[in-house]
Amino acid sequence: MTALDTPAVTASPLSATRLAELTALIRTTTGESRTTYSPLDGAPVADVPVSSVADVDAAFAAAREAQKAWSRTSFRERRKALLRLHDLVLEHQDELLDLIQIESGKSRQHAYDEVAHLALTARFYARRLRKQLRPRRRNGALPTLTSITVNQVPKGVVGIISPWNYPLTMAVSDGLPAIAAGNAVVHKPDSQSPLIALAGVELLRAAGIPAGVWQVVSGAGSVVGTAIIDRADYVCFTGSTATGKLIAQQAAARLISCSLELGGKNPMIVLPGADIDKAAEGAVQSCFSSAGQLCVSIERLYVPQDRYEEFSAAFVSRVQHLALGASLDWDADIGSLVSQAQLDTVTAHVADATAHGATVLVGGKARPDIGPYFYEPTVLEGVTEAAECFAGETFGPLVSLYPYSTVDEAVALANGGEYGLNASLWGKPREARAIAPLIKAGTVNINEGFSATFGSIDAPMGGMRQSGLGRRQGAEGILRYTEPQAVGVQRLVPMAGPAFLKPQTYARLLTTGLRILRRTPRA
Ligand code: NAD
Repeated sequence: MTALDTPAVTASPLSATRLAELTALIRTTTGESRTTYSPLDGAPVADVPVSSVADVDAAFAAAREAQKAWSRTSFRERRKALLRLHDLVLEHQDELLDLIQIESGKSRQHAYDEVAHLALTARFYARRLRKQLRPRRRNGALPTLTSITVNQVPKGVVGIISPWNYPLTMAVSDGLPAIAAGNAVVHKPDSQSPLIALAGVELLRAAGIPAGVWQVVSGAGSVVGTAIIDRADYVCFTGSTATGKLIAQQAAARLISCSLELGGKNPMIVLPGADIDKAAEGAVQSCFSSAGQLCVSIERLYVPQDRYEEFSAAFVSRVQHLALGASLDWDADIGSLVSQAQLDTVTAHVADATAHGATVLVGGKARPDIGPYFYEPTVLEGVTEAAECFAGETFGPLVSLYPYSTVDEAVALANGGEYGLNASLWGKPREARAIAPLIKAGTVNINEGFSATFGSIDAPMGGMRQSGLGRRQGAEGILRYTEPQAVGVQRLVPMAGPAFLKPQTYARLLTTGLRILRRTPRA
């Protein structure tokens, strides 16, 4: 595997003044800070202020105040701000890409996915929010006498707790529909990646979203995250299944709802008729984006027994040629893992799998020569059920190959385990489409790993089983931030009947009316 010799450039291209501008967006009064470090070379990046529970309180008070006026703005005004954000994100992409790389360690091409996803999301909700949110007429109980309109009322203040792996888009893209629906947001980015979230928030303000509408606090999830859940009207969380369950319990205790985008152990099935070269090429993209630290990334690959050798050779030779690098340019295919903890997990999963009989086909080594947390993209075969990585999420550049005999067997294997986030099928679209509903996953990509669905903002995205609750994207992604409110208007005759009629007479009349309605096809 090639190690690019371009040196890591994380001596932050951001000046002290620029860092101060960004960190000033955090609501804090503690005077305390925490230093963040870049995974690319372990160098310090910034001293990031830490917020207290009192700061979270102040953030909610400010957000509640700002939300009152924001919820009264027109769809047109919100649409304008979102489209302006779209343009600003593309205009400022160089700094955004630098920050994503510096804070997460990923390669620039994978960082760009976040910029594109945020722009796509901004355009999608800008163009659709009126259609998705406008009051809708529904059928009233008594035709012409009762009319019903359903409003989508904003929940109020939404708490967003976002992770480090897609630190721009999992923070800002998830919040856009919340503010598009007239809510305010109190947001806690992961402690590893606050600057990129702050840069996104700065662009929101430049796009015309009032400062109070999106508040940022920073600090440990157990303290600041908990304080957010204690005060929010809705919580949007992206992170691990373990933390997601804690959040669900806290939300349930307050009787507020939440969306949880959690972990996955995503399968790819190469169908018998698949083009092996295309499938092998697609598998590289699907397994190693963001060094495998992507919730929808593929970690299990099922290949027909009689094409196994052919696929394995095509896949392994492509993985061998991937270039690893730590610089802020477009040359590297794969960047770094985010932390020592991620490196330890990947190292332990490979050691454990080989101790249980697996073979490393390619990769299998840490690369401290490139940066402190680099690990080679790794392909295993012969992974047995006893191995941790057989069913447990690695969240790193590690994938296991398995042969199968029949498509039914492949589907059963793909449905093994407890997750249900994403799946990929390679082969003839018609055949794959028929298989898709049999797969227990919130998204199924045909002849793609994950981006056909993830990049299509009109499509709901989220997990079944232990992979989460609720959906981001699509109409579902904005409606989650609203309460449907039914407004009924009664005309001429009260529902209980006119005062001059005896209840029994009215009941008879109503019974006749109900029978007529039963025979009226459209009623
Ligand atoms: P994590 O659950 O440890 O942390 C995620 C966020 O939650 C961070 O901001 C953290 O500070 C906060 N947090 C931690 N404990 C908390 C608590 N008790 N209360 C409130 N907030 C708390 O997750 P991680 O390890 O940083 O992220 C990786 C995981 O996230 C992986 O399992 C991955 O699959 C999952 N993920 C899922 C998606 C998705 O869309 N489904 C996307 C990205 C990551």
